[in-house]
Amino acid sequence: MAYLGRVLCPILIMTVNITSLTYNAAFTAVSLMVLIANGLLGFFIGMIIDKFIFSYKQLKRGKLELEQYKQSLQATTDAIGITDENGYFEFMNESQFKMYGYTSSELKNWKDCYSQETLDWIEEQVMPKFQLTGHWRGELEGVRKDGSTFPQEMSISKINETGKVIAVVRDITKLKESENLIQHIALHNDLTEIPNRRSMYDKLNELMEKEIPFSLFFIDLDRFKYINDMLGHNAGDQLLVETGRRLEGLQQDMLSVYHLGGDEFIVLSSKTSQREVQQLAMDISKQVSWPQLLNGNQIQITPSIGISRYPEDTDNKEELLQFADLAMYHGKQSGKNRFVLYNDSIKRCQERKLIIEQQLGNAIAEGELSLYFQPKYDMEAKCLVGLEALIRWESAVLGDVSPAEFIPIAEESTLIVDIGKWVINESLSRLSKWEDKGYRPVKLSVNISNRQLQEKQFVSFLRAMMEEFQVDPQYLELEITETITTEANIIPLLNAIKDLGVGLSIDDFGTGYSSLSVLNYLPIDTLKIDRSFVHHISSGKYGEEVIKSIIDIGRNMDLVVVAEGIETEEHFNLLRKLKCPIGQGYYFGKPVSYEEIEWKLKRIS
Ligand code: C2E
Ligand code: MG
Ligand code: MG
Repeated sequence: MAYLGRVLCPILIMTVNITSLTYNAAFTAVSLMVLIANGLLGFFIGMIIDKFIFSYKQLKRGKLELEQYKQSLQATTDAIGITDENGYFEFMNESQFKMYGYTSSELKNWKDCYSQETLDWIEEQVMPKFQLTGHWRGELEGVRKDGSTFPQEMSISKINETGKVIAVVRDITKLKESENLIQHIALHNDLTEIPNRRSMYDKLNELMEKEIPFSLFFIDLDRFKYINDMLGHNAGDQLLVETGRRLEGLQQDMLSVYHLGGDEFIVLSSKTSQREVQQLAMDISKQVSWPQLLNGNQIQITPSIGISRYPEDTDNKEELLQFADLAMYHGKQSGKNRFVLYNDSIKRCQERKLIIEQQLGNAIAEGELSLYFQPKYDMEAKCLVGLEALIRWESAVLGDVSPAEFIPIAEESTLIVDIGKWVINESLSRLSKWEDKGYRPVKLSVNISNRQLQEKQFVSFLRAMMEEFQVDPQYLELEITETITTEANIIPLLNAIKDLGVGLSIDDFGTGYSSLSVLNYLPIDTLKIDRSFVHHISSGKYGEEVIKSIIDIGRNMDLVVVAEGIETEEHFNLLRKLKCPIGQGYYFGKPVSYEEIEWKLKRIS
């Protein structure tokens, strides 16, 4: 088709020529040359016709394409506009004026789409780059006709041939909203909506970069786990939300609150003097401890607060948090509901704790552990009726370390599990030897840590040990803590122990916050009144009343009551007057070695 003109024209002209020559019968050399020349002429004319047809078709196709482009420019939600050198629109698609809330005739110049502030910024930041490269792409804030603003992404290019500018603008409101939401989620606690650990680190970085002094309050709620377990997780969540709200409501400039997770909150304050920090700690404590209603129960929860200061304590953010955490932990251990400022002695404590942890790992293998035994006496007959096994550690590096110090450290790691197994093994081995030697049998009480008790294999391990040493289970009693009694699923576990014939005793009773009603459903045999109550007796405070009621409850529930920490004749007389059946304490005898207790057992047998 493209060569149609070039083929048809020469044929047509030459046919006409040949017909006329045949008609005139004048075939000469000249006429033949004229024929060829005409043929060539026809070819050129054909070529011109072909070109014309081709250009026409091109033009038609171009028009069609242009129409298609126009339609697609109109169909897109991106705003597309072409402006002249002065910024006036020469072309704009529908989205261009609709995006800004104008009609097509209202929107004249691209500058109508931005605030003066943005225009200044474009002049300063965008134009130099655009002039240099002919392109720019970035985010801006567009202004609609009604004055409202929206975030947009803009791409502009210069059309070199004409000097005009083509701009494509996309409304990124939705994108920004999702971005903001994702960022909010990443930086806030999903329960309380309070900025989280990441936000806190951002803030710490910012303050440290600017070298602004501040104090960091590490807040942990006392007994939160207990309330969570007792009242349910919904109530626990409610309590956290309320605590966060109260902390955020603290009235002070430059104060920010973070929720690290669980019951841990952080407050950062620009106040750093000892007096100011103490004042703020008291305010925090007061706010948090204010009673609140949870599931119809009025609950009062107290915080333990640890405080570290920048740059006074350290200029390392991890350390700053760790120091405040340590100080908080220190406060918890010394009785909860208090605030502690980080200091060197806490640091030394921490260092010692680390050494204890390292050394304790080898204590069993090195044979550094031993058991001591403290007698329990019948208060009326004043005769020995039982023993408590108490662990002793003579460390090659640290010397004698009290169990009151190393047991809590072992409990924080898995070390307690091996130590606990060693204690059971050693206790049963002693019991079986005494039986073999024919001594008068006495009940041996063994202390069991919460963590040890909650080990999956605990009951099967105990059963295996009982079988191995063949001891009569009635002469073994486990001393458990009061706090474990509120754990979920504790009753089946305690029942499984009772099924072995082993006795159960609650140690340090009265210090673990459990209500007396829990005693109704716990399968226990003995209550040991904490020694702090016994010591209060002599100071004439409330001790006597408390002991009397515990003894009465014990008697009503058929439990054996043991008073710990009887040190003096006065303690002894008072407890006897209160009809406490069994006593333990320095008054009767301190914990002694295996050899010494064996000598005593031999004497009474
Ligand atoms: P606990 O079970 O309440 O043991 C009684 C503690 O009071 C013992 O301290 C004992 O020596 C001390 N004590 C006894 N009578 C008196 C007294 O009249 N006055 C005073 N001031 N103290 C008295 P110890 O041996 O230092 O043990 C401390 C704690 O360490 C124990 O308290 C127990 O909770 C834990 N513990 C000891 N041995 C073990 C063990 O083998 N396993 C576990 N898990 N914990 C143990
Ligand atoms: Mg005990
Ligand atoms: Mg005790």
